[in-house]
This record gives sequence, C-alpha cells and structure tokens, in this order.
Amino acid sequence: MIDTHAHLDIIDKEYLPTLIQNAKDAGIKTIITQSVNIPSLTKSLEIAKQYPEIVKFSAGLYPEETLKESDFDELKEFVTKNIQDVFAIGEIGMDFSHPIPSRELQGKIFRKQLDLAQELNLPVSIHTRKAEKEIIEILKEYRNVKKILHCFSGKFKLIKEANEIGCYFSIPTNIVRSEHFQKMASELPKEKILTETDTPFLSPHKDKNNEPAFVVESLKMFSLLWKQLYEDVDKQIDNNYEKVYC
Ligand SMILES: [Zn+2]
Repeated sequence: MIDTHAHLDIIDKEYLPTLIQNAKDAGIKTIITQSVNIPSLTKSLEIAKQYPEIVKFSAGLYPEETLKESDFDELKEFVTKNIQDVFAIGEIGMDFSHPIPSRELQGKIFRKQLDLAQELNLPVSIHTRKAEKEIIEILKEYRNVKKILHCFSGKFKLIKEANEIGCYFSIPTNIVRSEHFQKMASELPKEKILTETDTPFLSPHKDKNNEPAFVVESLKMFSLLWKQLYEDVDKQIDNNYEKVYC
C-alpha cells in the first residue's frame, strides 16, 4: 500500500513517530511527502532522511500567496544539491480560487517545474483548483512527463481529456464520502489510479486528522466499487505505483 501524497512536514513532531508506526502496521510501504515552499523543502527532506525505509521526498512549489519568481531558482539549486534524495516533483500546480499569486506568475512557475521534471525524468504531483482547463492545456505540451493529478475535482469532460493525454489520478481517502471520487474510481481505467491521503487533510474519519495508514479505507472502497477482492485491488494499485514512480 502506498500514500503518494502526504504533508509530513506539518505533522506535530511529537506525533510523527506514531504516525510512521501506524503506517507500517497498516502495511504502507511508501509515503511520498510533498513540499510546498522553500522552508518546506528542508523540513520534508529531513523527514525522508529520518525514515528512509518508508518516506520519499518530493520537491515542489505550490501556488500559495507568498510565491515569488526567485523561488524557482532556489528550488532548482536545492534539487541539484540533493538530487540523490529527490524522488519526485511536487506539489506543484495552479489555483485560481484566490487572486494572488497572479495567474501569470503561477503559470510561469508551473511550467518551469514541469521543465525540471522533464529534464530529470521525475513524476509530478499536480494540484489544481479553478484552473483545471488551463492545467490540461499546459500538460498537453508535456507528453513525456509522468503526470499525476492529485485530488482532481474538475468536471468529467476534463477528467476524460486528462486521461487521454496520459495523466494518472491520485484519489484521496475522503472517497469514503465523496460521490465525485467514487465516480472517478468507477469510470477511469483501473491502471490510471493511485492512492493518497493529503495528510493531515481529507481524512476518511470525520473525528480524526488524516494519516497514511488510512489508505486502507480507499482500497476497501475500490474493492466495493470494482467488485474485486481486496488483495487484488491492493496488487493493482501497487502495480500502478511501480509503473509511474519506479
Ligand atoms: Zn497536498
């Protein structure tokens, strides 16, 4: 079992060892911790080095308010320096639900990070909100990059289009109560689906923060939707992960 998208750098330091142990006990083999800005790069890499048997580091700049153009140069420098520990590029993307950063800056940084992923032959985890159409247009130019749309909430016409240009979809654990994600899991080809938690967000349990161990809830849901044995679903998702990331 794999969690392709978590934010371990924002987990309470006291709780992190328990979270890691819970993941191991649940049978999680890999957690990819996604960074979102410059300070998060260092923190996330530290955690990956602390738990090398289970945590992999993904380097990226998220379209948050403080994003500035020079951040990309810092990211590139960081990635070059730590290249042997960089497993993927993410979390990157575009989000037009707020006016800042400008659409222009977001697009520029997004493309630069895709260029970097292409150059290094690394998969990318992509966030998008209210920019789904624009993202897909840009991704059409990056046929050779392994593209994972994380927690994609776009319309089904866009999901179909993204699938046709070779995107993968990491479906979060809140699938247990999201008709949208249940429909996605039912309609997309099974080989295009990956699992993620977006820890500590998107928990399947209303009263608990999310954690990688809860991927098991997504597999149970896939098993129901696909009318397949849990073990077979588990194997399918593991195979998909290996195809994209290994
Ligand atoms: Zn995320």
